[in-house]
Amino acid sequence: MADIAVIGAGIAGLVCAQQLSQAGYSVLVVEKSRGLGGRLATRRLHGTCADHGTCYLKPKGELLGRFVEILRDRHILEVWTEEVYELTTGAPLSEPKNPSPRYVAPGGMSAIAKSLAPGLEILLNQRVIAITPTPENSWCLTLESSNEELAAKALVVVYLII
Ligand SMILES: Cc1cc2nc3c(=O)[nH]c(=O)nc-3n(C[C@H](O)[C@H](O)[C@H](O)COP(=O)(O)OP(=O)(O)OC[C@H]3O[C@@H](n4cnc5c(N)ncnc54)[C@H](O)[C@@H]3O)c2cc1C
Repeated sequence: MADIAVIGAGIAGLVCAQQLSQAGYSVLVVEKSRGLGGRLATRRLHGTCADHGTCYLKPKGELLGRFVEILRDRHILEVWTEEVYELTTGAPLSEPKNPSPRYVAPGGMSAIAKSLAPGLEILLNQRVIAITPTPENSWCLTLESSNEELAAKALVVVYLII
């Protein structure tokens, strides 16, 4: 039985799973899609890629700022543009009051999720369809595809669509 099951391999689930794993817990991530990233979604077609979820990060707050710095050091993110204008109804283009750089992943934004996966145990293509508490104070997860059940002592539910 895993110490902690994390449902969802989007950025929140993967960051959380990495932190818990580095703190010494055994973690199992369960994801309903066939790829990582959730709304950090990149599609590859005609020799290029398109981000159809998050297309850039604009870090707000210290934690996201630090995370972006780590991803820049690993050459996963780079500054997209520092030249940003605002367009509001009835006004000409103007410089924003609080300009800050936007960051993009040239290899596709899902590269952020992939960079968070190493070392984690992740089940893909496994939709959780039910969560049940057990008499032993653990949790039982029912998976759609196999009707298999997984057990974990604790649960992190990031964003659940059943
Ligand atoms: C079109 C679009 C553009 C965006 N642009 C930006 C942007 O420019 N900048 C920005 O900062 N943010 C942007 N966002 C928001 C950003 O993408 C999200 O806030 C962020 O990715 C959410 O991450 P998350 O991990 O919380 O959730 P998600 O990425 O949604 O991850 C949840 C995961 O849980 C999985 N899941 C759900 N239910 C189950 C289940 N029953 N069983 C197993 N797995 C399950 C899902 O498949 C998914 O992978 C954008 C979002 C969209 C849709």
